[in-house]
Amino acid sequence: MELDLIGILNNNGASLKVDGTVSFENMEFSGTEYKFSAPLSIQGKIANVSGVLEFTAHVTGSADTFCDRCTKPIGIEIDYEFNETLVQADTEVEDADDVIILDESVINVDDIALNNFLTNCSLQHLCTPDCKGLCQVCGADKNTENCSCEEKAVDPRLDVLNNLFKD
Ligand SMILES: [Zn+2]
Ligand SMILES: [Zn+2]
Repeated sequence: MELDLIGILNNNGASLKVDGTVSFENMEFSGTEYKFSAPLSIQGKIANVSGVLEFTAHVTGSADTFCDRCTKPIGIEIDYEFNETLVQADTEVEDADDVIILDESVINVDDIALNNFLTNCSLQHLCTPDCKGLCQVCGADKNTENCSCEEKAVDPRLDVLNNLFKD
């Protein structure tokens, strides 16, 4: 979604309602795949507060990913809020990293929402909070199978001990 802020850009106290959808491409982010089969809802507003535009929004929807432990496909709820400060290119700002500089009056809401998704998304997605994951030796799903290799040491320091006692 693109929004033209021209109506509130130089109008202290004015605000613009944001109510619609944003679409994200399927992606991989820090080792996690996200698939978006439907656009996400976005509700919020952009308000001109003494010449600075404050963008607040709430994004909700769902995505498909995989359990980090057992790799089973899972659906996750997406629900996050964000605040962004938008300023015109000729505004003096203390820290340019904290704001979005507007080169023109039109903003791409999808891009802003996506950047905030990436900073908000949980680092861990599990099929169940106590997912047992896969056996590191044989790859069996420990939620559904009891393989016999669980006793084997995964810790390499124990291998050293085992070798010592071999002869
Ligand atoms: Zn799992
Ligand atoms: Zn196993």
